[in-house]
Amino acid sequence: MLKEIGVGASLAVATFLLASGYNITPVLLLFGIGLALWYLQSGPGVGVGRRFHVLGQGRGGPGVPGVSFGDIGGQEVAKRELLEALEFVTRADEVRALGIRPLRGILLTGPPGTGKTLLAKAAASYTGSVFLAASGSEFVEMYAGVGAQRVRQLFSTARTRATREKRGSAMVFIDEIEVLGGKRGKHTSHLEYDQTLNQLLVEMDGINPYDEVRLLVIGATNRADLLDPALLRPGRFDRVVQVNLPDREGRLHILRIHTKGKPLADDVDLDDIARDTFGFSGAHLENLVNEAAILAMRQGKGVIGPNEFRDAIDKVIMGERLDRRPSKADLERIAFHEVGHALASEVLRPGSVSMVTVTSRGRALGYTRQTQEEDLCLYTRDWLEDQLAVLLGGAVAEEIRFGSRSTGAANDFEQALDIARRLVSAGMSPLGVVNVDELPRQLYHETMSAIMKAQERRAREILESRDDVLAAASAVLLENEKIDGEELREMLQ
Ligand code: ATP
Repeated sequence: MLKEIGVGASLAVATFLLASGYNITPVLLLFGIGLALWYLQSGPGVGVGRRFHVLGQGRGGPGVPGVSFGDIGGQEVAKRELLEALEFVTRADEVRALGIRPLRGILLTGPPGTGKTLLAKAAASYTGSVFLAASGSEFVEMYAGVGAQRVRQLFSTARTRATREKRGSAMVFIDEIEVLGGKRGKHTSHLEYDQTLNQLLVEMDGINPYDEVRLLVIGATNRADLLDPALLRPGRFDRVVQVNLPDREGRLHILRIHTKGKPLADDVDLDDIARDTFGFSGAHLENLVNEAAILAMRQGKGVIGPNEFRDAIDKVIMGERLDRRPSKADLERIAFHEVGHALASEVLRPGSVSMVTVTSRGRALGYTRQTQEEDLCLYTRDWLEDQLAVLLGGAVAEEIRFGSRSTGAANDFEQALDIARRLVSAGMSPLGVVNVDELPRQLYHETMSAIMKAQERRAREILESRDDVLAAASAVLLENEKIDGEELREMLQ
């Protein structure tokens, strides 16, 4: 309203001055500059929904997304962790009554296209919250203070929007949060980044359980290592939920979701497609189904057949150049390597393996999860030696099966050397208590090497005497991409 009055009054004054014979060009020029500065300062983010993405009419009502957890395939662990965290919103009264510090932020980390945005939307829909999305890059501007202002605006928009829609809660989703929340002091050109991040911290600290609108910030990143530690401190992004690439079962689930309602030929086996799409993310699989449908249309077919899927898989792989997609031979090696670790672990510490997988987790190509009954503060010599044998088991298994080792064991060796160093420096080696710094290099080297060799021999004995289990478990792992501890224990018996 004020804007309209202002525009009207300015026009009237300008017409009057013009009619009175004044030269109004300088005034117009000044006005133009003022307008441009105002626009730059406020950015196109002014006003609800112009910069920040606010959802329209979703299944859950205005502003609430229409995505449910059922629309997300795989990601069972991430869903479970997220649901647990959402209790803070769904059971807000109890949280308040018990005086619990509210959960203010959840960080979803994982490779691109694995469903982080979907999870955030499903969280908003599940809790009936208004959903606002922004990307970290939207806050980064050349002009000091603009980013910080946008952060402020995002939070206030969330609150007003939730109040207007009569919702008790709002979720603010910030994708690529590493752009805005990178480590402070890294950007030397200006302090704009730092100011923006500081504002985000201030806004998050300002969230409290007695607010009329409960706010929850969900951040997403595939580079959690770049985040400023202040963001991960308790009271900010309290929960970190890993969203990994889906395994075979997860891929099958995602394929089922995306082929629902599409005409598939009878001989299409989604299980086969899931098997052939190792390393695909949810977004790749969605793209795959879409490409297959396009191919079917081009060929004038009414249904999507196995050939279309096969061609679409090639297209997605070539088109997107999937990184981290190991060849069949590499996969077999990774499987033996991981089973090597797992078997050594299970034999030396029965019940210690909870899960082995060959789908990449973070930077690792494969992964063996060991459970530990309790956190240890002190490590005995036996424990450390067993751990050494487990670490070396991977390379030994490769050697037993393929006659050679690979670079895949480099990380294991680093950890193994660390343990061997600890054994020497803690006086648990045959040298007894020694000052490592004063030890002749040759003697130190020989001692370390003897420790490693002894444990390598142990690992070899364990694996060679169970080579049938090694082969069988690796075959299952290759087929299903994962094998849980129970299954492995059954095989060992
Ligand atoms: P980015 O890191 O690139 O922002 P993201 O992890 O947020 O990616 P989404 O935007 O959630 O990924 O996913 C992109 C699309 O991929 C979704 O719209 C959906 O079609 C599909 N998709 C991804 N993951 C899944 C999944 N787990 N189940 C079903 N569909 C999925």
